[in-house]
Amino acid sequence: MIINSINPYSQAIIAEHEVLTNAQLTQKIELAEKAYKSWRTTTFQERADKMKKLANIFRAKKEELGLLITNEMGKILSEGIGEVEKSAGNCDFYAENAEKMLKDIYYDTPFKSMSVYDPSGAIFAVMPWNYPFWQVLRYAAPAIMAGNVTLLKHASNVIGCAKAIENAFLEAGFPVGVFQQVTISISQVETIIAADVVSGITLTGSEMAGSSVASLAGKHIKKSVMELGGSDAFIVLDDANIEKAATVATQSRMLNAGQACICAKRFIVTEKVADEFASVFASKIAELHQGNPLQNGINMGPLAKLEFAKTLSSQLEKSLQQGAKIIVGGERENCNFQPTLIDFVDSNNIAFQEETFGPLATITRAKNEIDAIAIANNHRYGLASAIWTEDREKAYLLARKIEAGNVFVNSLVRSDSRIPFGGIKKSGYGRELSEIGIKEFMNMKSIIIE
Ligand code: NAP
Repeated sequence: MIINSINPYSQAIIAEHEVLTNAQLTQKIELAEKAYKSWRTTTFQERADKMKKLANIFRAKKEELGLLITNEMGKILSEGIGEVEKSAGNCDFYAENAEKMLKDIYYDTPFKSMSVYDPSGAIFAVMPWNYPFWQVLRYAAPAIMAGNVTLLKHASNVIGCAKAIENAFLEAGFPVGVFQQVTISISQVETIIAADVVSGITLTGSEMAGSSVASLAGKHIKKSVMELGGSDAFIVLDDANIEKAATVATQSRMLNAGQACICAKRFIVTEKVADEFASVFASKIAELHQGNPLQNGINMGPLAKLEFAKTLSSQLEKSLQQGAKIIVGGERENCNFQPTLIDFVDSNNIAFQEETFGPLATITRAKNEIDAIAIANNHRYGLASAIWTEDREKAYLLARKIEAGNVFVNSLVRSDSRIPFGGIKKSGYGRELSEIGIKEFMNMKSIIIE
């Protein structure tokens, strides 16, 4: 079986990738097992030296790799290059901090007692196409620094990126089998999950994929981390700096053509400032240029697949039928979706209830700040949120009431190597990044000596 890579802007087939046979897949799993036996015995210093080299390879090749990202999934070139740089930064972060994060812990007992962190095996990762480098290095850098090895099943439209990442690991000197990408079909996923060497499963993707893979992980008694969908609230209160809020709102919704789990998707604005916010937000959205992602002056490329653009069009159409009003945008040509703002979206509207994975911003009006928090929390997802107010004390108290994995006050929601990242409710469970992220797939072994 062959999987085609299709450039979303030109719709040209740019590469063909052969799916592994079951026998080839078994060989890869055996190779992971072999590699794990020796990789787990290496020192932090040996791992860190290679991880630093990997970071430098990414930085040296950022233009070439950024172009590959753009060609496979359509984001503008500067965002692709930025993503490669951010991935390199995560490699540096774990190279520099893994050892101290995993130091032994001693307990206050009359006998000697301690916990040590052992690696656990091979981590199987199922990853999405929207940040094809960042999502991979976000889990792989800590996993490998911890002494684990990994098998990656990347999204079928970014297999070129998966192969480029594997090549970079090899070029950096990691032994064969420490990082392997596997081109497989969904029906082969269980074979990997069931393999004895596989100790953990991490999936970043949709709720449906998460539910299916988490079930298999449960069936085979393997720990899992699920980073799933989001419909993040961006709450604008009476005393917000509207100009600044609208600038960041535009960035937060429209980055990566609106295809990020942590894009702000529901703009919840108190009635007093809703008209003003809608007007400034609309004017900023209208200034964006959607088009060829390789061309200078273009702020947004196409959506990654035609089916995604069609789904967004049908969500928009239904939302308008349900009473939303279009303020700006709304047109689509193939994968090219105009940056769009709709207003008067109530909590029964499809654009409120479902995740909209593209450049569609929605405004929901709230009576006051209490109502705004209630509207924000009235959702199946709980990934991240933002609150805009000039009163930082109030913001802190409201942030404590938000049902989400992260809350940002007066700034862009973003992931940061130093800070735990993840969601609650249908946005998944477990955390990536920081010290918490590296510990997710370790055996915390307690040793007691009388
Ligand atoms: P997706 O369709 O769920 O695909 C993600 C990965 O899961 C791909 O590798 C896909 O493989 C695989 N997959 C799909 N169905 C599967 C199944 N039944 N069993 C095993 N694997 C399966 O999601 P997407 O469209 O690529 O990404 C968009 C979604 O990811 C959005 O909901 C977004 O919010 C979420 N996301 C979450 C985070 C986070 O950190 N929480 C970050 C980024 C994205 P194929 O490509 O072969 O189908």
